[in-house]
Amino acid sequence: MRRVGFTTTIPLEVLIAAGVVPIDLNNVFITHHDNASLIEDAELTGFPRNVCAWIKGIYGAVVQSGVTELIAVTEGDCSYTKALMEVLSLNGVHVYPFAYPAGREAVPLKKEIEKLMGQFGVDWDHVGEAKKRLDRIRAKVHEIDRLSWQEDKVTGEENHYFQVCTSDMNGDPDAFEAEVDAFIAAAAVRAPRHERLRLAFLGVPPIISGLYGFLEEVGARVVFNETQRQFSMPFGIEDLVEQYRAYSYPYDIFHRLADISREIEKRRIDGVIHYVQSFCFRQIEDMVLRKSIKLPIMTLEGDKPGAIDARTKIRVEGFLELLEDRD
Ligand code: SF4
Repeated sequence: MRRVGFTTTIPLEVLIAAGVVPIDLNNVFITHHDNASLIEDAELTGFPRNVCAWIKGIYGAVVQSGVTELIAVTEGDCSYTKALMEVLSLNGVHVYPFAYPAGREAVPLKKEIEKLMGQFGVDWDHVGEAKKRLDRIRAKVHEIDRLSWQEDKVTGEENHYFQVCTSDMNGDPDAFEAEVDAFIAAAAVRAPRHERLRLAFLGVPPIISGLYGFLEEVGARVVFNETQRQFSMPFGIEDLVEQYRAYSYPYDIFHRLADISREIEKRRIDGVIHYVQSFCFRQIEDMVLRKSIKLPIMTLEGDKPGAIDARTKIRVEGFLELLEDRD
């Protein structure tokens, strides 16, 4: 079956309507059994050391997985994507650029979606059917999110996993839906968890592993995963263009802040972890978040894949003590 990779969330409905297998290359990279080797491969090819590990991991994932078609989000995601696109084009990968308009205007966004539809030979009827199918699964993932913050029955890692997977539905929407159904059935009958502190996790998904589990060991749980939740299209909007205008990740920090502030209030958050990636331009946004969010914020920087290290654990424990002292 034809497989199409992408560098960040794109209108998935178009690929599902076209009957191709969608592949979020971030997920391929981070779940690879030896993801450090993908970064090394990219560095051996010539990627500089001071380039974000996700970009090198995506490059390695494309090469290793043999993907020959790629949708690259050139506006609204990563400042490195254009260069990545050029390198992959040279390697014979067919690249389809996709741009989220910086101003969130409906007309250019609709044009971008229709351009993609033309490239994959689908019309609005096909895309509408695909949206209904995806929205049914997304609604179930929203229920997992609700079970996290409202009923305290889901761990931070589980919340992260199911939401992050909605970007490509693990390449197989039916199988993913069955996994979601089984999880909800099991989670719904769990006893509520009793962590003392409720955290928000803002920023790109973490490259390090074990963070959520460690937080729970020391009495705190993430009940709001900002970006992962955005991948699940949380607003329940029927119109496809409006759905991708409401999706906050590709747009400016102030659009994101409106969503963050609402959810922090609703989910009774005690403190915020702002995760930033080494060499990522989004680190600059930390200044805006710190000025705009009234809760204590801990900025956590990750570089390469690997388990959470001792230094980070000590910093996290110090942050949680500070939160406890506020109560
Ligand atoms: S973490 Fe930042 S620099 Fe790295 S791929 Fe994502 S947006 Fe780009």
